[in-house]
Amino acid sequence: AENDIKILLLENLNEKAIEIFNQEGYQVESYGDSLSEEELIDKIGDVHVIGIGPKTKITANVLKHATNLMTIGCFCIGTGNVDTEYAASLGIAVFHSPFSNSRSVAELVVANIINLARQVGDRSNELHNGVWKSSSKGCWEIRGKILGIIGYGHIGSQVSILAEALGMHVIYYDVQTVMPLGGAKQVPTLNTLLKKSDFVSLHVPENCETLDLLGRPQFAVMKKGSYVLNTSRGSAIDMDALIEALKTKKLVGAALDVFPNEPLRKASIGSNNRLNKYISKLSTIPNVILTPHIGGSTEEAQDAIGEEVAESLINYLNEGNSIGAVNFPQIELKTTKSNKFNGNNSQEQNLVRILYIHNNIPGVLRTINNILWDHNIEKQYYDSTSNISYLITDIRASSHSEIMDIYEQLESTPDKLLVRLLY
Ligand code: NAD
Repeated sequence: AENDIKILLLENLNEKAIEIFNQEGYQVESYGDSLSEEELIDKIGDVHVIGIGPKTKITANVLKHATNLMTIGCFCIGTGNVDTEYAASLGIAVFHSPFSNSRSVAELVVANIINLARQVGDRSNELHNGVWKSSSKGCWEIRGKILGIIGYGHIGSQVSILAEALGMHVIYYDVQTVMPLGGAKQVPTLNTLLKKSDFVSLHVPENCETLDLLGRPQFAVMKKGSYVLNTSRGSAIDMDALIEALKTKKLVGAALDVFPNEPLRKASIGSNNRLNKYISKLSTIPNVILTPHIGGSTEEAQDAIGEEVAESLINYLNEGNSIGAVNFPQIELKTTKSNKFNGNNSQEQNLVRILYIHNNIPGVLRTINNILWDHNIEKQYYDSTSNISYLITDIRASSHSEIMDIYEQLESTPDKLLVRLLY
């Protein structure tokens, strides 16, 4: 039942999400910060759902203690902080919010293109310290300048539209062929983009191909006097190479919202040696704007993420629908009026939805159908990924004991990962 479902929410998740869970009757426990691995291990065995932001790490070790966990909600874009493959092997579906904050990130990028072109960060710092230094030297309009976007996905393409509206010429490099928006043009290689651009903005995912995507060889081919912006992931830039390119004035500005080794908790960069080393080196270089991973941090984005992920989780918990899960077969079995699960309605009280998640190996479906074949199956949907398979079945059963009998038989099948019944 809904009021038996316990949800643990970390990292000060959005009020809207909490409101949605409360309305569903779930028991919600919410914390402002992330938890360490030991703290998570201590708590996770007790909950059915965990909602996290980008800082909480759900490792295989944590998941080994998650004996009741059914699903994980990442209230952010990336899911790199969760061992999604291991979660799938335990039948735990992981959801996220793929693009609710894209526009927020894009707006910050465009603001920072202007801030870099006009050295706004430095002038503001000086005036905060009582220094009135007004000059036009090395300050530019962005109109007519070339913006090179690396990664033309949700965010990159939004940056493209906004930048063109301000009179910039946009080129982009992407590993996929992507349809250009407006007058933007895709270029065939990263080097072509780097050679031509006045501003280079990174919008790639974090993976082994994007590790140090901009390093010494790339800065070497960039235009002298150009700028770099990174709101994607810290690992995409070789920070020592960037510092060198800025010190030698090859680059005349950088706006960084993301860093290698970002701190887990608020206000703790002092304890994070590698990041601290970069920040202190960058602080002495002119025209460097540093922000603590706030690209997507707007009220609008948080509301949209809160709603989107909360609804995906509820849809999965209440109906078994896994659309949007990053590590699961994508299944949606519509609950129409005629098959609504309604325990109060005498005619419909015996309609049950069975969710059966299992290893994707030959012969399992035969085992399941041997259990289900003589029951009244109303609907059934089945899909697999390379490792796991997911079967949803709606059955009209004549009694509670008939349902419990099916449940116990499914529970004892050798390749089962998780069985759930929804009434
Ligand atoms: P997306 O998946 O929509 O787009 C990424 C694009 O990069 C895709 O078009 C893909 O084909 C392309 N790509 C992949 N590998 C590439 C490579 N090696 N070279 C060139 N292109 C490559 O992602 P998105 O939603 O636009 O997010 C982009 C990045 O922004 C991600 O790293 C995400 O984690 C980050 N992000 C940061 C913040 C923040 O607060 N700063 C907020 C949201 C997202």
